[in-house]
Amino acid sequence: MFRKRQPELACQEVVELISDYLEDALPANDRRRLEQHLAGCPHCTAYLAQMRETLRVAGRLTPEDLSPEMAEEFSEIFRRWTGERD
Ligand SMILES: [Zn+2]
Repeated sequence: MFRKRQPELACQEVVELISDYLEDALPANDRRRLEQHLAGCPHCTAYLAQMRETLRVAGRLTPEDLSPEMAEEFSEIFRRWTGERD
């Protein structure tokens, strides 16, 4: 059942879920949490926009579609955002 208080998603988790989100493969619960995170996180919103564009151009989304530079850049950025998390 849906609980009112879900643990907050970390940016890292959003990145992991975003391809499923774009493919409509995400359970409603996760989808809601992801959208809640996006609503308050401009970084992930920008990331999602980029993924959408990739999906639009490539027709599908696989990790290989991310250039190594881009993947590295994002994980670097995420490390900074979530620096206290681990
Ligand atoms: Zn975020």
